[in-house]
Amino acid sequence: MGVKIPCRRCLIEGLDEAEVMAKLQEYIDAIEPDMRTPDDLYRRRLAVCETCPQLSGGMCRQCGCFVLYRAAKAAAFCPDVPDRWSGDM
Ligand code: SF4
Repeated sequence: MGVKIPCRRCLIEGLDEAEVMAKLQEYIDAIEPDMRTPDDLYRRRLAVCETCPQLSGGMCRQCGCFVLYRAAKAAAFCPDVPDRWSGDM
């Protein structure tokens, strides 16, 4: 059985929006360069999320992730339609 990792979103309670954005950027900056989504694909992924009804307050209702972070990880995919973020769009 795998180890369950608690959702870190629950730990932002009490932070204001600027602090949340700063923490989010820290997480994004900590992604190893070889694990990071290329900038052009990152922008395309976020453009898809911006038009998606599952987006709410910067988070995806399908997975609960901040899309700014999820989209920054090269191996990540849209949890609703896995090929929605493909580079062929
Ligand atoms: S990750 Fe997928 S389901 Fe979630 S907001 Fe983006 S496009 Fe929508």
